[in-house]
Amino acid sequence: MDIEVIAVGGYDEVGRNMTAVRCGKEIVIFDMGLRLDQVMIHEDAEVENMHSLDLIKMKAIPDDTMMNTVEGTVKAIVCSHGHLDHIGAIPKLAHRYNAPIISTPYTTELIRQQIAGEQKFGVNNKLFALRTGQRHTLSQSLTLEFVRMQHSIIDTATAVLHTPRGAIVYACDYKLDRTPVIGDPPDFGRLRQIGKEGVLALIVESTNIDQEGRAPSERIARDLVRDTITSYEDDKNAILVSTFSSHIARVKTIAECAHEIGRKPILLGRSMERYSSAAEQMKLVGFPETTSMFGNRRTVDRMLRRMIKAGKEKFLPIITGHQGEEGSILRRIATGDTPYKVENGDKVVFSAKIIPNPMNRGNRYFIETRLKMSGARIFPDVHVSGHAYREDHYEFLSLLNPQNVIPAHGNLGFTSAYADFAAGLGYSLPRETLGRESKGYDVHLLANGQRVKLQ
Ligand SMILES: [Zn+2]
Repeated sequence: MDIEVIAVGGYDEVGRNMTAVRCGKEIVIFDMGLRLDQVMIHEDAEVENMHSLDLIKMKAIPDDTMMNTVEGTVKAIVCSHGHLDHIGAIPKLAHRYNAPIISTPYTTELIRQQIAGEQKFGVNNKLFALRTGQRHTLSQSLTLEFVRMQHSIIDTATAVLHTPRGAIVYACDYKLDRTPVIGDPPDFGRLRQIGKEGVLALIVESTNIDQEGRAPSERIARDLVRDTITSYEDDKNAILVSTFSSHIARVKTIAECAHEIGRKPILLGRSMERYSSAAEQMKLVGFPETTSMFGNRRTVDRMLRRMIKAGKEKFLPIITGHQGEEGSILRRIATGDTPYKVENGDKVVFSAKIIPNPMNRGNRYFIETRLKMSGARIFPDVHVSGHAYREDHYEFLSLLNPQNVIPAHGNLGFTSAYADFAAGLGYSLPRETLGRESKGYDVHLLANGQRVKLQ
């Protein structure tokens, strides 16, 4: 059986991830992501109403028109986790394939919401929830398995496609967190076993390959957040905390710390409400009972008015806007566009890092400056990453011992840094590239639109 890996999106950038694997005449697609900064740069772009081809032209979603040149039938679209750069293009592209969308239960719920918000296309693909630790037969020769993994969103899976020639492991994104705040650590036992059974290829994120050592556990982030918030136990000023709305473990930590110092956690913002209420309804997380959530602008502003009346020292708003995004709660607060006005000594905690692109840097600079002008105290980077560092990648490669490695989830800067790292472990660029004999342990550098047949 000839097996080919097709890099559709996410190989020239961080975002719009999509990889296809063709095994003989059968194809499995991994992820269909959206690159949000390419959308944000067009001020009036309303993704829900836009056509796929226009979004492809904007480089906001993967250019899957190349799939016309790949011979075979798509058997499944598999989404590894619920981040937008992995599921955000589902409403625009999935309907072109007569195949089910398979993901873990929480990811499936997020995909269902994505599809429900779509205005342009009718997406009728069957949604199939597969739990980690379970397998699903795709065809006579292909079986899909989800292995439990940790990342900055709950219910993340490492997808393993079992083929007659060995396993193909799709690990975008992952973090080897042994002391997570929600859920169990990654299933190391199963990963080791899969490594022993034989891994034909590993498709792996390369985002943090330049970070030496190991990614600190989410438990460290909990300590950082607790240390920051509880130092203001007697504070009469406002404490506003902004984090990734999809980072349920972090939101839980912040809510618990608020509760600890006698403040009611209030989750504000459409996405903040959406991700957390879905997780709560699915019983994947429990928040302190004093927690409340408000999504739309009217209820958010009403809550802020209530907070002013009752005393801002009684509440702790957990809000959207750590990147300074237009329309987010923190941006609205910074620009005086809510009933709440920032006062001298108010604390603003960023439990997030700036996602490094010029747009975010500009937005963050803008809101931070505005907040400081009103007298706010700023706490940046109260955060740890959700992506594997270099030594995590070392452990992962040792566990799986793949014959082929395809670094993904980054531009050539990231993927070639990963290739350099893999070269240090005995992997070589294949014969076609260097004119030398392959020993069978190859690392492949792909750009969007390229494909490689696995030896
Ligand atoms: Zn992710």
